[in-house]
Amino acid sequence: MFGLMQDRPLMISSIIKYAARNHARTEIVSKNVDGSIHRTNYAGLERRARQLVAVLQSLGIKDFDRVGTLAWNGFRHLELYYAVSGMQAICHTINPRLAARDISFIVNDAADQLLFAETSFTALIETIAPTVTATVRAVVFLCDRAEMPDIKLPDNMALLCYEDLMAAASDAYVWPEFDERNAASLCYTSGTTGNPKGVLYSHRSTLMHAMAVNTADVFGLRAIDRALPVVPMFHVNAWGTPYSCPAVGAAMVMPGRHLDGPSLTKLMNDERVTMTAGVPTVWLGLLNHLRSSGERLETLKRMVVGGSACPPAIIDAFDREYGIKIDHAWGMSETSPLGTYTSPQPETQGLTGEASLRHRSKQGRGIFGIDMKITNDAGEALPWDGVAQGNLKVRGAWVASAYWGQEPGSACDAEGWFTTGDVATIDANGVMEITDRSKDVIKSGGEWISSIALENIAMSHPDVAEAAIIGAKHPKWDERPLLIVVPKPGKEIDPQSLIAFYAGKVAKWSLPDDVVVVEELPHTATGKVHKLTLRQKFADHLVKAAPYRTFRPYGIICSKFRALESDRLILNRF
Ligand code: ADP
Repeated sequence: MFGLMQDRPLMISSIIKYAARNHARTEIVSKNVDGSIHRTNYAGLERRARQLVAVLQSLGIKDFDRVGTLAWNGFRHLELYYAVSGMQAICHTINPRLAARDISFIVNDAADQLLFAETSFTALIETIAPTVTATVRAVVFLCDRAEMPDIKLPDNMALLCYEDLMAAASDAYVWPEFDERNAASLCYTSGTTGNPKGVLYSHRSTLMHAMAVNTADVFGLRAIDRALPVVPMFHVNAWGTPYSCPAVGAAMVMPGRHLDGPSLTKLMNDERVTMTAGVPTVWLGLLNHLRSSGERLETLKRMVVGGSACPPAIIDAFDREYGIKIDHAWGMSETSPLGTYTSPQPETQGLTGEASLRHRSKQGRGIFGIDMKITNDAGEALPWDGVAQGNLKVRGAWVASAYWGQEPGSACDAEGWFTTGDVATIDANGVMEITDRSKDVIKSGGEWISSIALENIAMSHPDVAEAAIIGAKHPKWDERPLLIVVPKPGKEIDPQSLIAFYAGKVAKWSLPDDVVVVEELPHTATGKVHKLTLRQKFADHLVKAAPYRTFRPYGIICSKFRALESDRLILNRF
């Protein structure tokens, strides 16, 4: 017997209809490519999204056609999100920071019909256009006539102006209802280990995720909030903020391409931002700017961090120096992305000092709707004791079942568990801590060493700006940890004393074997440290270093002692 309740489909268009009706005048503020500010509101967004459907129809877009976007966080990108999904086509957000070769692959793999691009990506469009002629019929630049770039596209690929098309379009469209399980948007993982793979979100998964994210112990956004997503709309739907903000009527402040510390500080203060979300590297840039300029964030109360482990030193600095609380979140493209979130529980609420920081540095509790487990390599479930570490698996209504073009269910095991590729512990309170990506964990003589734990210690050293640990080849132990660090401006790092800094913080056998000092670390298109590049460059570092072992303080080798060997001298630029 079915319950006797209305069976209304969960439609992405219902979010913007709700916001336009109930929060009509709530602002959407966008920083344009040229730095100027654009203002609209939810009523304006919904009306323009209907006009955009007319544009898309006039360009021949039909059900489930893919429409590619290469765009920053801004009002036109929001219009695309709602128009494309709302008309039952598929909004394919493309990460412009990927290599041109990967972007061509992605556009062809998705068979995008149209590309909507920001003018700042003109050179990129010029490069990829000849490689995507099989399906792309037109490139629409997200600007008005005066800003149209001077660009030559291949024959049969039209060059169009967004605002010209919008000016001629009717807003008479009525949002349709259809099966909530239908595809709504497509986002490719960055593919650091092979070709990128597409994750295909549905209307249902998107709404379930938005509702879960809006609960009080997760983003907990409210109509009085003004949210600034630094996380890009071109990767995992800006962590769902384009849906969760209008679903509660929170104002949106969209930074466009201006993501440096000074620009973010100004925009947050000018627009009275209360909540923001981004990856650790962006918050590190912001922190450095605040410290050097003496500026403060006047209205910001909460920052969400995720995408890679946030060093406790950053969480601590924002809290103690600026009174801003950082919440740690974990997720991935395949989980829409939010899977866990750090929020207080009765058991952890009263923690102070180091214990509180330790708790807030973990990735958090599973959100209702997400099941988690950790298993050993034989697939057996491990205990939730905060000690056992194993492969993290998840399942839930907003977790991928397969990648684009593959059989439903093919990305999961028979019980529906998706293997995340992360290694984690879960404690008795259900709080999960990522110790590594499974491909980054250092396997040293049968022991597993967590690179994240070692990186966090280096990051708490006063002279270290950024740190990465990789497993470098070792003749006896297979792999040993190698620490690669960037010093803070004007500081010098003495490898010996940096290793000494680890004393008492970790077991002796897990100390890094060596320190390499570099000017900067390579990052992926999604802002994570690119460990593959580091491994390619430094995998043999300890093997080559073998003759110098006699100089080991604390049982480690120290680069400073090898400084005579100029090719391994320490300053590398990526
Ligand atoms: P990609 O950047 O490879 O396209 P995602 O953006 O989906 O992929 O990244 C997901 C991965 O990022 C996770 O599997 C995990 O390794 C890492 N990650 C995300 N959030 C956190 C976090 N808070 N702490 C540690 N690692 C994280």
